[in-house]
Amino acid sequence: MYLKSIEVQGFKSFANKITFEFHNGITGIVGPNGSGKSNVGDAVRWVLGEQSAKQLRGGNMQDVIFSGTETRKPLGFAYVAITLDNSGHKLPIDYQEVTIARRLYRSGESEYLLNGTSCRLKDVNELFYDTGIGKEGYSIIGQGQIDKILSGKPEERRELFDEAAGIVKFKRRKNTAIKKLEEEQQNLTRVNDILSELT
Ligand code: ATP
Repeated sequence: MYLKSIEVQGFKSFANKITFEFHNGITGIVGPNGSGKSNVGDAVRWVLGEQSAKQLRGGNMQDVIFSGTETRKPLGFAYVAITLDNSGHKLPIDYQEVTIARRLYRSGESEYLLNGTSCRLKDVNELFYDTGIGKEGYSIIGQGQIDKILSGKPEERRELFDEAAGIVKFKRRKNTAIKKLEEEQQNLTRVNDILSELT
């Protein structure tokens, strides 16, 4: 699995629709300070479901929408799509290529798309469990993140190893099952209370 392309339109400094295509080997993005290099990484984080404006170096989520320049009006929406090669079926979906897209309007209305079909953030998150991709994944290492990992709490470091070992989805499922079990236990207690009142 590898990242084939990133398409951005109206996202941060990228007013016009542009597509970055990636081929075999290493790709470097170079440019003067403030030219938008980090915005490319932000675009990937964002499309993978980042919910924190701070992580995207903004004050609120609408800050990702192109805010205009002296010569150009602000735009009404931001759009990012990434396409991944899935010929090895690392992602649990029956497609050779997977495109995840996210769109946000100034009104706050937003949507995620999975291969062109509207989907929930939950679907995007679940698709990437245990792949190292995703907003919590280690496929994007931001500035200062290595330091954070090295000096972080053991539990935080453990999360990284869990993801690499591929056990995150099982942990999540276990937690969901435990929650359901607790709810059922409470229901059972209520039923027993009612029964004892009736008898
Ligand atoms: P450096 O080399 O200094 O780290 P960089 O190339 O990584 O810089 P970025 O931080 O990616 O640059 O981009 C910063 C630029 O993006 C700034 O010029 C800023 O004005 C612009 N920018 C950020 N958000 C928006 C937005 N919503 N609308 C328009 N421009 C934006």
